[in-house]
Amino acid sequence: MSKRDYYDVLGVEKGASKDEVKKAYRKLARKYHPDVNKEEDAADKFKEAKEAYEVLSDEQKRAQYDQFGHAGAQGQGFGGFGGGAQDFGGFGDIFDMFFGGGGRRRDPNAPQQGADLQYTMVLDFEEAIFGKEEDIIIPKEETCETCDGSGAKPGTKTKTCSHCNGSGQLNTEQNTPFGRVVNKRVCHYCNGTGKIIPEKCGTCGGAGKVKKNKTIHISIPAGIDEGQQIRVAGKGEAGINGGPPGDLYVVVQVKPHDFFEREGDHIFCELPLTYAQAALGDEVEVPTVHGKVMLKVPAGTQTGKTFRMRGKGSPNVRGYGHGDQHIKVKVMTPTNLTDRQKELLREFNEIGGNEATEEQESSLFQRFKKAFKSE
Ligand SMILES: [Zn+2]
Ligand SMILES: [Zn+2]
Repeated sequence: MSKRDYYDVLGVEKGASKDEVKKAYRKLARKYHPDVNKEEDAADKFKEAKEAYEVLSDEQKRAQYDQFGHAGAQGQGFGGFGGGAQDFGGFGDIFDMFFGGGGRRRDPNAPQQGADLQYTMVLDFEEAIFGKEEDIIIPKEETCETCDGSGAKPGTKTKTCSHCNGSGQLNTEQNTPFGRVVNKRVCHYCNGTGKIIPEKCGTCGGAGKVKKNKTIHISIPAGIDEGQQIRVAGKGEAGINGGPPGDLYVVVQVKPHDFFEREGDHIFCELPLTYAQAALGDEVEVPTVHGKVMLKVPAGTQTGKTFRMRGKGSPNVRGYGHGDQHIKVKVMTPTNLTDRQKELLREFNEIGGNEATEEQESSLFQRFKKAFKSE
């Protein structure tokens, strides 16, 4: 995938000042922050802006980016995104790595932020509307307590890799027609960590981290909707070399309801009425997520007529009031009539009370009749 120019991402000129870069980033961050923006690509855009800002706000990184572009920046390891693609094995279905919190850095001993985690939470229709408190259990990488993250057996020490002198990189020199070229490669003696562990910690096998099931309390706000996500700061993977932990993103999926449908804060449903109820009018009980509500159906109500019950929808997730419930009438044509019922309906038809209203006469029935004439 080709990366967008960092200046384009932030929408600033090449010569933009530090302040302008900061301002542009803040604006984008506010717009695309996953807590605020529920659009599908908002998280990507947020990360993209963050990455651009991280480079352009740092004089040294920016100078290198200006000179070498993304390739230079990536090679120098400013990324910090798309790094730690990790597999959780059996948990893989519901837990997947979101964005690698830490790419390869120039200094393998520098603190790195832990990776962000994503958790998908499936809610019932009503749970999304009224919110929910839930403890979730997620497998997370934690700093190994036995070795305090060093990876070395207690009582022993890690050593600086003698092959790369702790840089995690090996330089190989090559003579080319254009002169001598220095290539940097990840040091394979220490796997780029810059450290050698003579005696590995028995608990984590030298990784310095262990996978643990962690219980995290999640507060789902009332009115949350399909696809929205909640950011739980600091609950992602543990940081590396004392860096801060990543964040946890809880993405919400809402199960469909048998009777209700939801669009934003509004709830929609269909109300079946008998022919008699629709013709004569009635007072009927209508279910809402807030309990049953009486609805007055006026005489002569047609199929498709929609009633609105103010405030009977979902609360707005940001606290801006409630949506409405929209009730669409569906007149049910009677089936399995008894002989007596058939007799009455035939009589009713003969009396002539079955004629359409003027309004219908002028629209639907006219079009209906025309359809025959044009044959
Ligand atoms: Zn350990
Ligand atoms: Zn090394």
